[in-house]
Amino acid sequence: VPSACVMSVAGIAAASVSGISDEDKPEKTTSLAVADPSTVKAVAANNKLDSQLEQLSEGSDDFRQRASRTQERIDLKQRQVEEKKKREEEAARREALRPKFVMPVKQHGLSAYYGQAGVNWMSVHTGIDFPVGYGSPVMAATDGTVRTQYNSAYGNMAIVTMADGTETWYCHLSSTKIRSGPVKAGDVIAYAGSSGNSTGPHLHFEVRPGGGASIDPLVWLRSHGVNPT
Ligand SMILES: [Zn+2]
Repeated sequence: VPSACVMSVAGIAAASVSGISDEDKPEKTTSLAVADPSTVKAVAANNKLDSQLEQLSEGSDDFRQRASRTQERIDLKQRQVEEKKKREEEAARREALRPKFVMPVKQHGLSAYYGQAGVNWMSVHTGIDFPVGYGSPVMAATDGTVRTQYNSAYGNMAIVTMADGTETWYCHLSSTKIRSGPVKAGDVIAYAGSSGNSTGPHLHFEVRPGGGASIDPLVWLRSHGVNPT
């Protein structure tokens, strides 16, 4: 901008010189310095330009600040998205690693096997017995939906139905913790006892595919990576 201004002044000077006689030289010099309207206009324009540039610069600073704040918001959003993704991946990893079949009680070892004759009230034993103490926590062996009921033979019962319809039965309970609703493998659903036809505290555990006839829970548990003995 300044060099353009200088050029325009020089141009005006040249024009003045060419159009004016020698006698007028002093005057011409004066007129050039004081009155040349183009020069005044150029200076005014320059000032205007300066202030516009200043405003532009201020505007630019403001823009930079806003852009920076916008970037911060984008960064925060991005971080939140990444953190959410990380949490979801972690949850999925934990879900994948979580055992889907577990022992119905902590203690290993059985006091009666499936198919055994003359166990308590049954002609043939339809489940396996865990000799656990009164009040011992009883866990859902699988994910599923729990329901509870009372039966004169089985006493207080909890039944967990898996997504595929397989039922696991938990019998002779002293009390139930979760009456109904969804459960995950390992959730404490009840406490062992001796209700119903039972001679002492233990957990009687059954497996009934599709809610039908019982199968050997020992074979079933082992086939799912759980060994109760
Ligand atoms: Zn039993």
